[in-house]
Amino acid sequence: MGTKGIELVQVDIQQLVGLLNKALADEWLAVYQYWMGARVCKGPMRGAVAAELQEHSNEELHHAEMLTERIIQLGGTPLLEPRQWYEATNCGYEIPQDPSVKTLLAQNIKGEQCAIEVYRQIVELTRGKDDVTFKMALEILEDEVEHEDDLQALLEDLQGVG
Ligand code: FE
Ligand code: FE
Ligand code: MG
Repeated sequence: MGTKGIELVQVDIQQLVGLLNKALADEWLAVYQYWMGARVCKGPMRGAVAAELQEHSNEELHHAEMLTERIIQLGGTPLLEPRQWYEATNCGYEIPQDPSVKTLLAQNIKGEQCAIEVYRQIVELTRGKDDVTFKMALEILEDEVEHEDDLQALLEDLQGVG
């Protein structure tokens, strides 16, 4: 990263890069979990559920892009191979083995709640100490809060359908 840009960072850069890489692993696993869920889902309102899952998959991919760009700016190395995702993840991967829309939604809600906690911690760590990472983590946190809300709203709608 540029020398002035790096001077501004008041947190341990190695520790920060480690946290960003763990979040990167979460994002890639979320991309795939949503992407596959959008294709295998079965049951009431499957069209609406599939559309929301696909949209979230795209948004998680965007988060992965933001994290990778910031890791590189900080002079770090982003996780370079998929096998590292399972080692580094905070939130894990819920296999979409049961394709019922309710189960898929519940699995993804769990993932979003974990993601909210991950970004809350990065926001806390960087507040007032690394404005660029702070702003990025806050933006992602806002998206994850919206994701959880979208999925819970869909699940509520489904309770009415039976
Ligand atoms: Fe995300
Ligand atoms: Fe999300
Ligand atoms: Mg949404």
